[in-house]
Amino acid sequence: MIRFYHVYQSYQKDVFALSDISFTINPGEFIFLTGPSGAGKTTLLKLIIREEIPKKGQILVHGQNVSSIPVNKIPRLRRSIGVVFQDFKLIRNKTVFENVTFVLKTLGIDLKERRRRAHNVLKMVGLQHKTHFYPLELSGGEQQRVAVARAIVNDPVLLVADEPTGNLDPDRAADIMNLFEKINRKGTTVLVATHDRDMIQRMRKRVISLNAGRLDHDSGSQVHGEEN
Ligand code: ADP
Ligand code: ADP
Repeated sequence: MIRFYHVYQSYQKDVFALSDISFTINPGEFIFLTGPSGAGKTTLLKLIIREEIPKKGQILVHGQNVSSIPVNKIPRLRRSIGVVFQDFKLIRNKTVFENVTFVLKTLGIDLKERRRRAHNVLKMVGLQHKTHFYPLELSGGEQQRVAVARAIVNDPVLLVADEPTGNLDPDRAADIMNLFEKINRKGTTVLVATHDRDMIQRMRKRVISLNAGRLDHDSGSQVHGEEN
């Protein structure tokens, strides 16, 4: 599903946010990406969704080389990936319903179906009673859950989340993780960046750790190699 092959990224000359990162994530896996602040987690996620292009190395996502796909194919790549951004990226002048179903609308899915899907995912995150609120009328935790609902509404093949529980109390955080597990069981590959060690320990999933831009440890390294 995701393959990094000797990937380097830098924002300033000779300062690397990521150095020589290689790993393979197979379809259906659930992975935590961890490491201290500044380790390169967000950079790695941005590379996966083609928000950035690496300075060196190859990245394959869902069979596509993300550095070389034509610009007009990027929207389709992004639609197959559900993304929970660290800052949520909700649209202020759209309601929760409109935020959650925006992509479905661009895909031409009719209102009745959009309502059905929005209802399902908002119920999953416990926000069915906030459907017609605007983002600024919600608490930070609620906005985060809207971002999660939006990320899963189109049944993505891959779900990528950057600190998706950062604003949540422990019970809510556990709810979101249970939801991610449920989505994962239905076949979606899940990659979650977090520095919440307690949660990582509880979940018992493969963990990829970064430190100062380098791959520090990969608990699933037996499935990563040069051969596949
Ligand atoms: P993490 O998500 O693990 O906290 P980041 O990927 O955000 O780490 O950052 C990795 C490194 O890259 C940090 O040293 C950070 O300061 C730097 N960095 C990230 N984004 C930019 C940017 N747009 N411009 C310059 N430096 C950046
Ligand atoms: P949380 O316990 O998630 O931090 P808050 O205490 O921030 O929630 O908010 C509680 C309720 O108040 C939420 O349901 C939210 O809809 C509402 N609320 C919070 N901030 C605002 C606001 N600026 N305008 C309108 N409603 C708000």
